[in-house]
Amino acid sequence: MSAKIKTSFIKVKCGDCGNEQITFHRISSKVDCHVCGSNLAEPTGGFSSLNGEVVEEVE
Ligand SMILES: [Zn+2]
Repeated sequence: MSAKIKTSFIKVKCGDCGNEQITFHRISSKVDCHVCGSNLAEPTGGFSSLNGEVVEEVE
């Protein structure tokens, strides 16, 4: 996905177990999967996806 994300919340899909969870676009700490504990994203001045895939922007 190349489009810029402008919304405050995004839905992220875990690359390991497929769990989908909603998180802040601007995260201030690591985001871990609630199900398997995989690290989905890191705060690098915004949302930086690691093992997670952004599947939806939430208004
Ligand atoms: Zn997971």
